[in-house]
Amino acid sequence: MNKSLEKVPMREQDPLVRNGNFEEVGYGYSLEEAMEEAARCLNCKSKPCIKGCPVNVPIPEFIEALSGGDLSGAYEVLTSENRLPAICGRVCPQEKQCESRCVRGVKGQPVAIGRLERFVADYYMEHSEGDTVVDIKKNGIKAAVVGSGPAGITCAGELALKGYDVTLFEALHELGGVLVYGIPEFRLPKQLVKNEINKILDLGVTVNKNVIVGKSITVEELTEEGYEAVFIGSGAGLPKFLGIPGENLNGVYASNEFLTRVNLMKAYKYPQVPTPVNIGRRVAVVGAGNVAMDCARVAKRLGAEEVSIIYRRSEEEMPARLEEIHHAKEEGIKLELLTNPVEILGSDNHVTGIRCDKMRLGQPDASGRRRPEPIEGSQVTLDLETVIIAVGQSPNPLIKDSTKDIEFAGWGGVLVNEETMETSMSGVYAGGDAVTGAATVILAMGAGKKAAEAIHMRLSQEKVMKR
Ligand code: FAD
Ligand code: SF4
Ligand code: SF4
Repeated sequence: MNKSLEKVPMREQDPLVRNGNFEEVGYGYSLEEAMEEAARCLNCKSKPCIKGCPVNVPIPEFIEALSGGDLSGAYEVLTSENRLPAICGRVCPQEKQCESRCVRGVKGQPVAIGRLERFVADYYMEHSEGDTVVDIKKNGIKAAVVGSGPAGITCAGELALKGYDVTLFEALHELGGVLVYGIPEFRLPKQLVKNEINKILDLGVTVNKNVIVGKSITVEELTEEGYEAVFIGSGAGLPKFLGIPGENLNGVYASNEFLTRVNLMKAYKYPQVPTPVNIGRRVAVVGAGNVAMDCARVAKRLGAEEVSIIYRRSEEEMPARLEEIHHAKEEGIKLELLTNPVEILGSDNHVTGIRCDKMRLGQPDASGRRRPEPIEGSQVTLDLETVIIAVGQSPNPLIKDSTKDIEFAGWGGVLVNEETMETSMSGVYAGGDAVTGAATVILAMGAGKKAAEAIHMRLSQEKVMKR
């Protein structure tokens, strides 16, 4: 056993080099490093870490197989519950999930479950000679999945494994949802996302890209076309704004637009690609979640000299993954904390600055975080050329406006029975950000999996009753 109280560190690109390129920040563990870290696991009988994982990855078992040198066994155990391990190992907020329950974390750092998961997935991708063909017995039942983000792709894969004829409908020309158009290349290489998605498609999923459900075809029409179950995993892609003067000025971007231009349309390769991003010398990103960190780090890589995160609370309340905050600071991103924008300033219709109130923290609000309050007479102005708004997203209203039988919450989320993920329209299920609002990859995957199980339970029972 390795008694070290600390995780085996993961080698990374130098911060002052990587803030000028889009290559992956972390290099991942070598085999020796992974073995050394795996030896920190106590293989606890009660397996508390599993309770912190929304898809129940058998964590001690995969780590045990790894420790024993059985790498394909480790991959098999891992993928029995999670079909996107290279992605989750990189982007899950482990400190709030599996690793938060690890007993090694009581006295020292928890086992680096995410890094080990990433290692096993990457090692398998690099060394395997192709997957063993899974023998799937088809049941002849058609199911439709709307959206190819983590929720949709997981639901599609689970249904395909159970024998359904699954068709995936995706509005964009690329599959993956936020994994391809939101999370940047330096955090999640797109080739790796493609590889993991292709493994799921190989289970026998038909893909229909460039189809906007709610416009090109409605949910009702899908059910009329013989799809006996429909899963809606359309995410939360509608940006929220601050509602302050100046948001229409040139130089103000919504985070989605900014990141899509860079990640999906590869604006960082302009002029070799047709989509530019005009980044100024000084950039402010408003917000403090993963999206805000990504925007700030992308802006720096596009050549901005000064990039600041503007957040109305303190660092303790920042919702982003700890690693992202740490990496952003290392790369030279400045944190303007306890600062709240009240007006974006402009000249000739272009951004010139942002005026903010300085804040202090008062009593906790409904979210349990201390409520920020403006300090009178404390206003500051920051001079800048670009403002990126990253204060949250809500579901796009297209499906809501075109499907009368599905009930939605006032803020736009699909209402579901939490046990089954079924909506108020019989046979139509939903999960992921479309239901919860902006959340996490692993929660979206968990919802896709739960819905697939409920769909199967119901349709297989109906089949038995029809006999
Ligand atoms: P999405 O990933 O949004 O996928 C929805 C898909 O549905 C999209 O492909 C969309 O084009 C498609 N679609 C939408 N409407 C329609 C329609 N009408 N017809 C057909 N297709 C449609 N989570 C983490 O766990 N860790 C992180 O580090 C992290 N970083 C993030 C960084 C950014 C920049 C963003 C934006 C999010 C981040 N998240 C992170 C959150 C996470 O990515 C999401 O919670 C997750 O992707 C939600 O999955 P989903 O499948 O519900 O939706
Ligand atoms: Fe942890 Fe995410 Fe892996 Fe689950 S899928 S074990 S939460 S890293
Ligand atoms: Fe290993 Fe930690 Fe899980 Fe125990 S709680 S089995 S030490 S990963």
